Amino acid sequence: MNQEHDVVVVGAGPGGIASALALKDAGLSAVVLDQAEEVGSSWRGRYDSLHLNTWRRFSQLPGRPYPKGTPTFPSRDQVIEYLERHAGEEGMDLRLGTRVERIERDERGWVVRTSADELRARQLIVATGLDRAPVVPDWPGREDFKGELIHSSQYRNPRPFEGKRVVVVGPGSSGMEIAHELAEGGAGKVWLAVRTPPNVLLRQGPGPVPGDLIATWLWHLPTGLADRIARFAARMDLGDLTEYGLGRPETGVFADVRKRGKVPAIVDGEVIEAIKEGRIEVVTAVTSLGSTWVELADGVRIEPEAVICATGYRRGLEPLVGHLDVLGERGMPKALAPRPAAPGLRFVGYLARPGGLGYMGKQARRSAKAIASELRRDRSRKEDDHGDLDPQRGSGAPEVV
Ligand SMILES: Cc1cc2nc3c(=O)[nH]c(=O)nc-3n(C[C@H](O)[C@H](O)[C@H](O)COP(=O)(O)OP(=O)(O)OC[C@H]3O[C@@H](n4cnc5c(N)ncnc54)[C@H](O)[C@@H]3O)c2cc1C
Repeated sequence: MNQEHDVVVVGAGPGGIASALALKDAGLSAVVLDQAEEVGSSWRGRYDSLHLNTWRRFSQLPGRPYPKGTPTFPSRDQVIEYLERHAGEEGMDLRLGTRVERIERDERGWVVRTSADELRARQLIVATGLDRAPVVPDWPGREDFKGELIHSSQYRNPRPFEGKRVVVVGPGSSGMEIAHELAEGGAGKVWLAVRTPPNVLLRQGPGPVPGDLIATWLWHLPTGLADRIARFAARMDLGDLTEYGLGRPETGVFADVRKRGKVPAIVDGEVIEAIKEGRIEVVTAVTSLGSTWVELADGVRIEPEAVICATGYRRGLEPLVGHLDVLGERGMPKALAPRPAAPGLRFVGYLARPGGLGYMGKQARRSAKAIASELRRDRSRKEDDHGDLDPQRGSGAPEVV
């Protein structure tokens, strides 16, 4: 079946739902497609103890605050409940269990090929997320390792690791939180393997101020200045962590985000305490694996029973839109919403930055406004064209378009 729609949104995570709600608020209807059977599938798959590391007010859908009584940093399940509630608002047209396989351009707009059928859209929003494809480094000997080796996206809670020696690879928010949870949850030994010392920020800033409120404020300052302030604050909050294996990062927080799309590790103070107390032992980067061992960059061998790779994700957009010349470096869209990457095609989300979820809401609102005006312009053009063909308007020979 070939249905034509004003707007199709691909993805029913926070970015896709925010987009559909903003379009609805602008008086437009959109079809939202998601391969999963439920909305917010990325959040459903994340570890049990996960809480937002961004303030709820900076993490909300357009014009839709979290319910009263929600904590400053909502839990994974509260985020899911909130997404579900708003995805269920009247006027939302969700088509779940529908995987988008490829997007094509034609003379009338966009053709969306899905696992179910084919849809046509005048305008398209792609919101498939920046955490689509888990990355596990291709270490020499990886296949020989006899213990358990998983990506952090497969980790749920510390129970399966009780009494075991575990190395967590990667000192981002997830890696540090998982290492801490394992240390608290009865793992026999926990190492945290670090290639590049991370920038670390505390989830909770001074007093009641959420850390990302300060980060979002700093984001708007010149990068060098923001980095100097953040470095000073980190030194005051965390102290010097060099003797615990976390030396001073070479690049500042904001330069890292802007140049490399790398967000800092945002954690609670107790994670840093566990490192200082040696309950998490920081070691150098993993270089290779053997049947029972892991070799580190400084030549030391450790013998973990499990390796958890908190080694990030790729955006994984190539199969969908790789042929449309809209992707640039590291598979990142060349333009992000509200700017179109091609006429009538926008990418919402995909940007690693402070208050990422809230920023998606902004992208969604601005995109909805632009889409409404582009659709209006297209309609009035069409009407003009029909008018030209209308003999009553007496415009002479019609121009063929
Ligand atoms: C562990 C973790 C914690 C995070 N915590 C925070 C935080 O505290 N604050 C913050 O601001 N950000 C956080 N982020 C970053 C980011 O905001 C979230 O990942 C957020 O879920 C991204 O929303 P999204 O809608 O862009 O993508 P997703 O939530 O990943 O949603 C994308 C949707 O697209 C669907 N999809 C993908 N491909 C297709 C396809 N081909 N066809 C149909 N559907 C498809 C997926 O099923 C999914 O439902 C976190 C990320 C991770 C990994």
